This record gives sequence, structure tokens and C-alpha cells, in this order.
Amino acid sequence: MTVQQPHSHLPDEKGKFGPFGGRYVPETLIPALDELASEYKTAVSDPSFQMQMQQILRHYVGRATPLYHAERLSSMYNAKIYLKREDLCHTGAHKINNATGQILLALRMKKPRIIAETGAGQHGVATATVCARFGLKCDIYMGQEDVERQSLNVARMKLLGANVIPVTSGTATLKDATNEAMRDWVTNVRSTHYIIGSVVGPHPYPMMVRDFQSVIGREARAQILEQEGKLPHYLVACVGGGSNAMGLFYPFVNDTDVKIIGVEAAGEGIHTGRHCAPLSAGSPGVFQGSASYLIQDADGQVAPSHSISAGLDYPGVGPEHSWMKEAGRAEYVSVTDSEALDAVRLTAEQEGIIVALETAHAIAWLKHMSDRLQPDTIVIINCSGRGDKDMNTIVRELELA
Ligand SMILES: *Cc1c(COP(=O)(O)O)cnc(C)c1O
Repeated sequence: MTVQQPHSHLPDEKGKFGPFGGRYVPETLIPALDELASEYKTAVSDPSFQMQMQQILRHYVGRATPLYHAERLSSMYNAKIYLKREDLCHTGAHKINNATGQILLALRMKKPRIIAETGAGQHGVATATVCARFGLKCDIYMGQEDVERQSLNVARMKLLGANVIPVTSGTATLKDATNEAMRDWVTNVRSTHYIIGSVVGPHPYPMMVRDFQSVIGREARAQILEQEGKLPHYLVACVGGGSNAMGLFYPFVNDTDVKIIGVEAAGEGIHTGRHCAPLSAGSPGVFQGSASYLIQDADGQVAPSHSISAGLDYPGVGPEHSWMKEAGRAEYVSVTDSEALDAVRLTAEQEGIIVALETAHAIAWLKHMSDRLQPDTIVIINCSGRGDKDMNTIVRELELA
């Protein structure tokens, strides 16, 4: 048993992580958020819900995922490096852990229709997948720009029976798709559950998505204790909205000897302004339902973001990460597009694993850790997804064709 420290009790009843989080939404959504929070609370203490969740995670999603000792990366970096293989989940990334939890809640609330937002399409695919599995109607909002960039994922969602709605407002990317999904939810809240894809948005989403993703860290904790007989020295994960990172980190937050590092996308370099690293280079504000760090201009307008990895290309970040940063519990750093591409190549060549561009950001941080690594230093990196979806970008950027 670990000593319970204040952090594990967060958020408070208002959904706050210190000054972050909360609910900054239209009045009409409050009853739906209350209903969701209360259903969630009942569900987690209901053994039949827990049983159903475990069955699906095991037999459909493919859990537990391996904790893999990456021997060749380890000898290159002079440390013991483990990859938590979320890339081996059904649909190729961690997103389905959360989609599974939320669809079961939607069924309990008897909502016949699901909506979701998606950027790269991974959350859209995970949501379309669970909707097909449980026979619910599914509408996915996706920026027009992303619809064009991620045509394969659009086709996957359609094949799974989902309706993909292109969004042309704003920059026609993820934040605009999220705005449209929110608007839809306000109008259709009685029949519709909105499956948010990361630890963002109004309370209870950041807490709920974290809890559904925490299966990653719970497994990793048990696996490392079994394989090494002790806890890791470092946890490293990429941070877009922050769900794969929170999922790995949360079961270790009270283990204060375990150092936690979140890696954001520095895009073309923080100094160019073309990045999406709100924790490294942004400031606190309110965005899409909660208070957190975000990238904004001097007038408080959300600034455009850039990353080679569509899944990290989001100007905001989950409120709990903002709290962990301010509380000093986690360190947030960033790596550039080209460092991430190098890490994709390296992991493919050294380990025979083609990782997602998002994941590659976490792996790329290793080369900045050399002064902290010893042969017995244990590092767990969250391998959040596989790189198949990124092959077009990878072929172009690494000149493989
Ligand atoms: C969506 C995605 C991410 C970024 O989202 P988080 O909520 O920050 O985890 C990271 N990796 C992969 C593979 C993704 O699909």
C-alpha cells in the first residue's frame, strides 16, 4: 500500500485540480454533466460494470498489453528501457480503453446516440469501433483539413458504420471539430452521449478519462514489480490532450521517488511559434470547458498550433497536467518534429517496432536524458500507438519512396 497523499483525491467535488479544471460550459449542459458524473460514480462501485469492463478489455481490446524490455534501445542509451505496448491494443492505440468505458456508461444511461470529435482519426476510429460492437448510432466530427490528411481513418470510420461530419469553421482542425461536437451535444443532450477522447473538457471528463486510461499504469506497475522487483526511476509519455500520459502516470503519483516526464510537441521549434507545447510555452486560460494551460496570443485568443503528429496538434492540455506541473510532481519538456521522425526510424531499426509519430516524441526524449541514465536506471515509456496511420507522412519525410 502506498501512502495516500492529497493528489490522489483530486479533483475536488467541483472538478478542480488546484486552480485548473472545473466547468466552463453553457448552462444547458450542466444537467448532462451532473447525470454523467453521478452515473459514473454509481458504475465504478458496481461489480457488474467492473466485470463487464474487464471482460471487454481482455477479450476484445487485448489487455493486458505487454511491458516489453527494449534491449537494443537500452544498450544504446545505457539504461533499462521498457515500452508499455499500447500499440498492441485493438485499433492500434490506447484510445479504445476510454472509448470502452464511456460506451458502457452510455448504455447504462440509455443514450441511443454517440458523438465524438477526432483529429488524426484515432479517437474517431476507437469510438466507431465500440459503437459498432454495441450497436449505437455514431456521428464523428472531424475538421475538413484532417479529413483530407487522414483519409484512411475516415474510410475506417465509414466502414465501421459511423457518419463522419467534416467541419469547415476556424482552422478546420481538431479544436473546431470539438466546438461543433459541443454544439451538437447542447442541442441533443437527452438522446446523445459525447465521448471526449482525452483528459480535457468540463468535469467529470478529465477525471473519468484518466480513470479509464489508468489501466495502463496499473498494469505497468504490477509488470515492472514482477520483472524488476522494484518501481521504475522514470516514466515518460507524450502529451497531446494528455490521456495516455495520465493513464500511465496516475497509479504512480503517490510514489514520489518515481520521476514523471511528459513530452510535448515542439513542432518546428518553440522559438518559431509553430508548436503545440502549452505546458512548456503557454499560459493558463480557459478553453473548451476547463481551465488549463493553453497556447494563446496577447489578447487571450487561442493561437494556431503545429505538430507533424496530428494527435498532438491541439492548443490545450488536460487540467490535471497543469496541476502536476505547478505542483512540481511532473516535468514537462518538448521535442521537435525532426527529433520525433528520427525516433520513429530508430525504434523501427533497433526494435522492429514502427511507432506512431505521437509516441516517437516520448522516445525522442531519451537522448536528452543521458546525464541522468545509468545501466540500472529503469525507464518506462508509454508506447501509445502504432505508426501505420502515419506511413504517408513518414514515407514523405524520411524519403523512403
Ligand atoms: C491521440 C493519440 C495521442 C495523444 O493523445 P493523448 O490524449 O495525449 O494521449 C498520443 N498517441 C497516440 C498514438 C494517439 O492516437
